Amino acid sequence: MSTYNVVVIGSGPGGYIAAIRCAQLGMKVAIIEKYDVLGGTCTNVGCIPSKALLDASEHYHNAEKRFADFGINTTGLNVDFTRMVARKSEIVKQTNDGIAFLMKKNKIDVYTGVGSFVTKNKIAITNAKGEKQEIETEKTIIATGSKPTALPFLPIDKKRIITSTEALTLTEIPKQLVIIGGGIIGLELGSVYHRLGAKVTIVEFLDKIAASMDDDLGKELMRLLKKSGMEFMLSTKVKGAAIKGEEVTVTAENKNGETVEIKGDYCLVAVGRVPYTEGLGLENIGIALDERKRISVNDHLETAVPGIFAIGDVIRGAMLAHKAEEEGALAAEYIAGQKPHINYNLIPGVCYTWPEAASVGASEQDLKTQGKAYKVGKFPFRALGRSRASGDIDGFIKVLADKETDEILGVHMIGARAADLIIEGVVAMEYRASAEDISRMSHPHPTYTEGFKEACLMATDNRPLNM
Ligand code: FAD
Ligand code: NAD
Repeated sequence: MSTYNVVVIGSGPGGYIAAIRCAQLGMKVAIIEKYDVLGGTCTNVGCIPSKALLDASEHYHNAEKRFADFGINTTGLNVDFTRMVARKSEIVKQTNDGIAFLMKKNKIDVYTGVGSFVTKNKIAITNAKGEKQEIETEKTIIATGSKPTALPFLPIDKKRIITSTEALTLTEIPKQLVIIGGGIIGLELGSVYHRLGAKVTIVEFLDKIAASMDDDLGKELMRLLKKSGMEFMLSTKVKGAAIKGEEVTVTAENKNGETVEIKGDYCLVAVGRVPYTEGLGLENIGIALDERKRISVNDHLETAVPGIFAIGDVIRGAMLAHKAEEEGALAAEYIAGQKPHINYNLIPGVCYTWPEAASVGASEQDLKTQGKAYKVGKFPFRALGRSRASGDIDGFIKVLADKETDEILGVHMIGARAADLIIEGVVAMEYRASAEDISRMSHPHPTYTEGFKEACLMATDNRPLNM
């Protein structure tokens, strides 16, 4: 029987990064993955395929709606959806192969099958044919991720009523897509199909969309998406759905208590994700789940059973690939005797709509709840030369700073390339910069980054230079 220092169960961004970091630190490592491709949700049915379709549909949208303004005329423009989806699959495959290469390079043994605890130090692996083998390990990192949440009253048939997984592999562009949930998945995948010509209606239980972000971002994003033709039904509670032939009828209750029906040819259920621990055999080693089906861990990500760690979507915190990665590295370094640390407040969140929305640190609503005195600097992209040149004038950058010390407490932005721009906020906050510190740093002209400097000038002393 093979024996390892560390076995990682699950090969998503948490698991494969944990495995690599363990190997870098000199441990003998194995990774177990249920599917015959590596990369988990993120690579196969999450971040990568969704961004491939977002970028593809955005190119089409620009060609259809914006190119003429730049003096570029297109005739006979149309979408080859089969090719668009095939390209997405090619990118997923390249990423799968890249991770397999990294496993080889780092001398990590890969086992295909469901990993299940027999004892604390013995793990059984059962492959798709039902064949079983066992390996031994000193320590284990559980990185089994999450799966889409289903609504108990709304069965998902995976054909007409679908989750994000099916929405990434459709064979046709929906005519009318009803999306339940105005969170990040609903907004991103809604954008994809809206740009490709579908009528998209988002039905959201709360009175706002993108509820995990600063309220100003959700408001601005909804305004812009509405302007582009997407429809929103807020404060509306979905009660059920029925399929008849190719038509889905979603029944919901609006804020006035009235029953409303929304019809479409597809209904995407995007109401969150739930940790995935089926088949792990946690009961064999005495690990219980909390009320939200998560594995409980301490600050070192160790479970109640010493030597068994858990990371990523299967534990508390934001369900994000980069959060899972940081935790993978932390678990490995802690096992190696180091003293790693994650600043969870500085894990950025991004919504890859267009414009993109991105956040780090405290939101205004957080600061109000904390009773913290703060200053706001909010600079619109339209005042930047770069934005006018590119035509991407929507959105703003908002900097929240401590009223007394001027330390930056939160950065929230919606606009072109916010997904990449947010890192300046992360770096500033990691080094505990004041808004004035940033406002005294040279930002290249013309770039969108100047918006960050201007928002900092406004937060520190209300003295923008270009507005
Ligand atoms: P996962 O990626 O879920 O990987 C877990 C792996 O464990 C899976 O491969 C699973 O098959 C395997 N597994 C489970 N049980 C067993 C077992 N018993 N034995 C063996 N293997 C097992 N996050 C971002 O940060 N940015 C994005 O742009 C983004 N976009 C997303 C888009 C969509 C549509 C979705 C659904 C999610 C998106 N996410 C995004 C979230 C991101 O995918 C997750 O946060 C991330 O994948 C979590 O990583 P993980 O390693 O914890 O688990
Ligand atoms: P979410 O939690 O972001 O949003 C779900 C939304 O559904 C919420 O706004 C909720 O109020 C609403 N909802 C719940 N029940 C409802 C009902 N009965 N009727 C109407 N609305 C209802 O979840 P998600 O969008 O499914 O995403 C799942 C996870 O994946 C999130 O944690 C997200 O961060 C992650 N993810 C991240 C990215 C990214 O980083 N760009 C992209 C996709 C997914």
